[in-house]
Amino acid sequence: MSRINFYHGETIPLELHKVRIVQKLSLVPVERRLEAIAAAGNNTFLLKNNDVFLDMLTDSGVNAMSDRQLAAMMEADDSYAGSATFTKLEAKIHDIFGLQYVLPAHQGRACENIISQAFVRPGTIIPMNYHFTTTKAHVVLNGGAVEELVIDEGTKVTSDHPFKGNMDPAKLTALIDKHGAGKIAFLRIETGTNLIGGQPHSLANLREIRAICDKHGVMIVFDASLLADNLHFIKTREEACRDMSIRDICRAIASLVDIMYFSARKLGCARGGVICTNSEAAYLKMRELVTLYEGFLTYGGMSVREIEAIAVGLEETMDEDMVSQGPQFIAFLVEELKKRGVPVITPPGGLGGHIDARRFLPHVPQQQYTAAALAAAIYLAGGIRGMERGTMSEARDEQGNETFAKMELVRLAVPRRVFTLSQIMYVVDRISWLYDNRALVGGLAFTEEPKLLRFFFGKLAPVSGWQADLAAKFRQDFGDSL
Ligand SMILES: *Cc1c(COP(=O)(O)O)cnc(C)c1O
Repeated sequence: MSRINFYHGETIPLELHKVRIVQKLSLVPVERRLEAIAAAGNNTFLLKNNDVFLDMLTDSGVNAMSDRQLAAMMEADDSYAGSATFTKLEAKIHDIFGLQYVLPAHQGRACENIISQAFVRPGTIIPMNYHFTTTKAHVVLNGGAVEELVIDEGTKVTSDHPFKGNMDPAKLTALIDKHGAGKIAFLRIETGTNLIGGQPHSLANLREIRAICDKHGVMIVFDASLLADNLHFIKTREEACRDMSIRDICRAIASLVDIMYFSARKLGCARGGVICTNSEAAYLKMRELVTLYEGFLTYGGMSVREIEAIAVGLEETMDEDMVSQGPQFIAFLVEELKKRGVPVITPPGGLGGHIDARRFLPHVPQQQYTAAALAAAIYLAGGIRGMERGTMSEARDEQGNETFAKMELVRLAVPRRVFTLSQIMYVVDRISWLYDNRALVGGLAFTEEPKLLRFFFGKLAPVSGWQADLAAKFRQDFGDSL
């Protein structure tokens, strides 16, 4: 967002767009929230949208579209082969990234399936700054092993490092020395590193990693799903990039990688997925897999309307006002929570704000799913749906023992262009109320625990009557307010 100072008082983020289509929200009373969270087995994935006031589960496929995107959707050229709409997307990718070959897929994980099937072989290693859930699953499915090489600062909850998503060049060199470059299928850099709090990498770090990869002949695959946020951080936090435009930074990044892919549910504010490269050999290797798994090369499982919207959404991402909106709202959320003593991940990243559940609820042990308990309590406090990122998202080992997560986090995603600042202030208010009443919050235990993906489908119950007590305290403090 362009910097706009207020004449009176502190500067706050200012929306440089206006709302033209609205969706009514409902905020149900705390008594209903108590019933709803019980019916959902204390799993925020299982809540019904009608019971949710602010949906901060994810930024995937829920970013607001612009008037221009909607207008473009009406122009989409619906044909099985040779769609003019796809040609527009190719031209846009060429223009923005300087990449020539474009392959469509229905979403980000579909790109990961194609790339992994094409390049991962049993016994190979795939170094990454950090893994993402679906990426790791596809690599492992094809017999590869993920090695995480993020800088040590990356997994510290509080830090003032501006680029916690950087890959550690020394760790990479050590890995190559140990195993030999021949064992490496490719190296993957994830921009706006999702699972460690939407933390960015710098352009300088990418250059350094490129130099090491060039020396050893290693291919770089770049996951650009969260590029919009990372562009903002490079522009504002990296001294050497101050005078570069967003477009310049995009070109510079793309020139350093061999294959780029992204979930267009995030980048481009639409739905779909794209793989792009300048390597004809890599393109040919992936092309037939796209036809086999996704669809013909000019739609790849996407609706042509979405393809139109992606092309416009990518162009809109070149606007500094657009890429800074999310990070500025997130910074506001995180700073305001911090001012009220709520333990948060710092510095604020992209994607959303992250609350440190272990410091919020030190009396709730990890065996009782600290972060899941906090996510349920946040829903009770304000009808706010966040996502558990802790032990519940892990799987038990072969003996059935819990694997305790390194961090117990609740993520409050801030989808792009969706919420107003007063809604963010409401979140701050309800969570700070909860923090003052944190002693009332207890743990959870599984009542239904699926073996696979338990965080999606599993159900839990409070270990004591704490949720009814919390709801009663809410009613006492807020009177007849919702
Ligand atoms: C969301 C995401 C993906 C997967 O994309 P989908 O469209 O949800 O399949 C891959 N990588 C990153 C970094 C993501 O955030």
